[in-house]
Amino acid sequence: MNFVFATKNKHKILEINSLLGNDKAVKSLSELGIEEELPETGRTLEENALQKARYIYKQLGINCFADDTGLEIEALNGAPGVFSARYAGSDKNSKKNMQKVLLELKNTQNRKARFRTIIALIFDNKEMLFEGTVNGVILEEPRGLSGFGYDPIFQPDGYDLSFAEMSMAEKNKMSHRAFALQQLVDFMRISKFI
Ligand code: IMP
Repeated sequence: MNFVFATKNKHKILEINSLLGNDKAVKSLSELGIEEELPETGRTLEENALQKARYIYKQLGINCFADDTGLEIEALNGAPGVFSARYAGSDKNSKKNMQKVLLELKNTQNRKARFRTIIALIFDNKEMLFEGTVNGVILEEPRGLSGFGYDPIFQPDGYDLSFAEMSMAEKNKMSHRAFALQQLVDFMRISKFI
């Protein structure tokens, strides 16, 4: 059975492909020729993930899943959270987003943060949600060149490296998205979808 991963983010596609190994059951939107922006106007990660998955399910009638991720910073009362992508403006610029976070945390001792990913799966008209989180700290300045988004300023607990200083394989061992994807993949395998 085929599933579509409703995302245009190439990094996310690479991450799930590396988790699935040679399994080819999941297709990306670009493989289906869809290049348009998906709607993301919800007030929570759950709403956004469902909104993206429902949009594609309605349009293509194919089983699909979508994810939405937020960086939740304790000293900022959970911000940027669901607004992570557009935190510093509608151009969704990762560098500007990181600069804004670092400015807001200037002289702040409490650097605790977490990444949270919600995956919404729709199959045979049924909907399911999966969640993955990883706790860590916001660094004083960006470090590393790998990954994407806020990776250079996030260091997971128990590690000396930022996400952007890790290889994809290392990040995949304990990232928010990897935990959520692993649950999704386990569910698909148990249900004999893949
Ligand atoms: P979305 O889930 O693609 O909407 O992502 C929301 C925001 O979080 C965007 O600014 C992404 O760049 C950022 N983001 C999502 N996943 C990650 C990640 O694994 N590491 C760093 N930033 C991320």
